Parts: sequence; C-alpha cells; structure tokens
Amino acid sequence: MDAEEFRRRGKEMIDYVADYLENIRERRVFPEVEPGYLRKLIPGEAPEEGESFENIFKDIERVIMPGVTHWHSPHFHAYFPTANSYPAIVADILSDAIGCIGFTWASSPACTELEVVVLDWLGKMLDLPESFLACSGGTGGGVIQGTASEATLVALLSARAREIFRYKQTNGHVDDGVIMSKFVAYCSDQAHSSVERAGLIASIRMRKLPTDADCSLRGQTLRDAINKDRAQGLIPIFVCATLGTTPSCAFDNVKELGTLCQGESIWMHIDAAYAGSAFICPEFRPLLDGVELAESFNFNPHKWLKVNFDCSTMWVKDSNLLTEAFNVDPLYLKHDNQGAMPDYRHWHIPLGRRFRSLKLWFVLRTYGQKELQNYIRKDVTLAHQFEGMVVADDRFEIVGKVVMGLVCFRLKNASNATNERLLKAINADGRIHMVPSEVRGVYFLRFAVCASRTTESDVSFAWDVIRELTESVLKDSDK
Ligand code: PLP
Repeated sequence: MDAEEFRRRGKEMIDYVADYLENIRERRVFPEVEPGYLRKLIPGEAPEEGESFENIFKDIERVIMPGVTHWHSPHFHAYFPTANSYPAIVADILSDAIGCIGFTWASSPACTELEVVVLDWLGKMLDLPESFLACSGGTGGGVIQGTASEATLVALLSARAREIFRYKQTNGHVDDGVIMSKFVAYCSDQAHSSVERAGLIASIRMRKLPTDADCSLRGQTLRDAINKDRAQGLIPIFVCATLGTTPSCAFDNVKELGTLCQGESIWMHIDAAYAGSAFICPEFRPLLDGVELAESFNFNPHKWLKVNFDCSTMWVKDSNLLTEAFNVDPLYLKHDNQGAMPDYRHWHIPLGRRFRSLKLWFVLRTYGQKELQNYIRKDVTLAHQFEGMVVADDRFEIVGKVVMGLVCFRLKNASNATNERLLKAINADGRIHMVPSEVRGVYFLRFAVCASRTTESDVSFAWDVIRELTESVLKDSDK
C-alpha cells in the first residue's frame, strides 16, 4: 500500500467506522456464532502473494462482524462500560503513525512530557491532593498503565520492594524469599479478581476480608486481620481498597482503611477502575475522600471517560518507590538527560509503551471538563430511570444501592435458579446483553449503562424486553 492508496483506503475505513458506530443500534448486540466459527471462514495459511485491499475489506462484514459483541451498542448493558469516542480514535491514528516506543524521555520526549502534563490536568480535575501531581515539584506524579490490573500489580510489587528494603535495614541480610514469606496483603471479598491475581504473581498472600452490609470494607475488619497476622509473626504490607466494586459498585471506607494504613506504615492502593471517572463531578468527589491517605490511586478513563482502551491512569505520591522497585539500567537505555523527566520504563512492567497520552489529551480538549461531567451525569440519570422502573414492578427488588451507572436487581422471592433462567433468557433472546453477579450466595442481574449512545428510550426498551421475558420465565417456573 503506497501513500496514495493509504489516503484512499484510510478515508474509506473512517467512513466504515462512522457508519458502523452510527448504525450500531441495528446490529444484534451479542453474536450468534459457535466456538470455532472463524477458522471455517478463512484459509489455514497466510497467502503466498499479497491480496487486494477490496478482498480484505469485504471480509470485515463476512468474517469479523458476525463474531463481534457490540460493546458500543446502546443495548449492551454487561460488565462496566468501555469508552469510545471519535477524538480518541483520531488520536490513536496519530499515535500509530508516530509509532514511537516511549520507554525513556530520550526515546521520544513528547511522549513522556505530554503524559506528565495531561496526568496533572486529569489529577486536578479529580481534585487529587497536590502530593500526587508532578507539577507540585515533589516526588509525586501520574503514569498511564495499560489496565487497572497492571496498576495494582505495580503498586503491590513496589510495596514489596519497599518492605524488603526496610526489613533488611532492621534485620541485616536475610534472603528475599524468606522475608517475602512473612508478607501479607489485604483486599475485600468484593475486590476485582485482578487483585487476587496480583498476589499470585507477586507471591504475596492476599487475604480477602469480609465486608459490611453495604459490601464495604471497614477499618475494624482490617484492624482485626492485621492484629491476627502480626500475632503470628507476619508482616502486613499492602491494602487494596476498591471504590466501585465490580459485582455491585460498592465503596470501601477509604478514610478508615487509610488512617489505619498510615498508622501501620502499610501501602494503601485505591482501585477505582470504573467509578474513578465520576470523581470529576463535585457531587461524587466526596466518595474519594481519604485518597490523601493512599500511596497510589488508579482508575480507567478507558471505562467511562471517552478514551478508548487502553488508558488506565495511576498516580503515586512517591515515584521513587516505583523506580527503585523496577530499576534495571542497561547502557543502551541510558541517556544524557536522566533524572530531568520521568523515564516511564521504570514505572510499569513492560519496556515498550504507546503514545497513549495523545488520546487523553484530544478527549480532554475536545469535550472540556463540563461536557465530560455532563456525560457522567447522563449515565447516572439513566441508571436511576431504570431503577425507578424496577422499583415500580413489585415482582422485582433492587440489590444494594444505585450510586453510579449500575443497577443490580433480581426477581423478588424467587430462587437463584429462576433469576439465572431469566438472565439466560435475556441473553438468548439477543435484543439486549447483560451479565449476572453474586454477593453472599445471592444471584442477581446487573444492568450497566454502557454505550455513549444509550438514551432514555433504550433504557425503556431494555426494561420492556426484561418484562416480556420475565412473563415467560415465571410461566415456565409455574409448570
Ligand atoms: N478493578 C475493578 C474494580 C474493575 O471493575 C475492573 C474491571 O472491570 C478491573 C479492576 C480490571 O480492569 P482492567 O481490565 O483495566 O485490568
């Protein structure tokens, strides 16, 4: 493909993408294919000679689209949202064209410098304490990770490195493995599976602590766990608090946990993967109170802030704790300006990194803070609209509280099996798509407002579908 053809094909693809997104409502949200469908549609080997672009383009509809789950359909209500916007897509084209691998400042200065500044912008939008911001001139700052899972792992590995260092300072040289065998970390029984996984990868035991009636991890529970572990000679090093849990969008008590962590010199990381975007609205910001007690904080603009995957923003108070934990320094990666700006290769797991701050920058400038706030508010309003419909139907009950764009609900006085049948009927029907969840043995359905194109009438449509299928599920249960 030469430049002339690229201009033509690129424009055709932009048209295809715009048509796809603008007409996405017409497509079945969840595909009807069976596992292995795709292998039957394309050859078993790569072509010997290159093919025409026409042929490749035709296969988007023939091969790919039949197997796509349309996350940006207004009928998609599963998981949590994943963001999608035109300015982010346009920025990604530019990022792909520049194609730099911004592991150090010198490897592409703009890639590092834009990230530093835009993370300060976003940190200020969230009203993060100055100590997390690079512009404060201290040790704090932000970095874009690929995912919230990586952010949690980076925080845990950094906490582990800090504690190994401290232990050796007090006790002299002891083998790292021996020291690590004493370490213990905590999260709630509602934390995302990636937190448990971080424990597995870092070889640190991760205790899942019970939550209160609101699915919130409280200080006293952590206090008891720490006391018990210390009495057994273990060393608590890390707590991952969640703001906006995956099962039901519950909020840990960050103030209580943080106060305790400060007193015990334990690293508190906050995972606000979904809910974090809402903290740009003053009315939701109180939920983040206590962040000043955390060592690190993370959320995913790629979930709810119009920045396409991947863009997971993490802030730390003391970036030295990251760079010291991950510092390996071969000659070929050194440069003359080391220390003047961050070398982000020390802040995360991989070496290579894309120019992801471009899409965040384009999005923040295109929409401005006001439109992004209104976007969040619109989704929360739609969730409350759905909640109202559930409440008005006395066959159903709401599970937990509707705080943001997620509504958890179930058939009242019905078994888990009946609720599961309802969810299965909804997904088999295919007009809308949802996933279930379970808290303390109670199975329920999750209705998340996901796509940016979702309107009031889409929410009413979803409720009509659910009511219609409820009739038939309840009729079948009576038989
Ligand atoms: N943490 C929470 C609270 C989540 O809800 C999710 C995903 O939904 C994650 C972490 C994982 O996010 P990621 O895919 O960015 O690792």
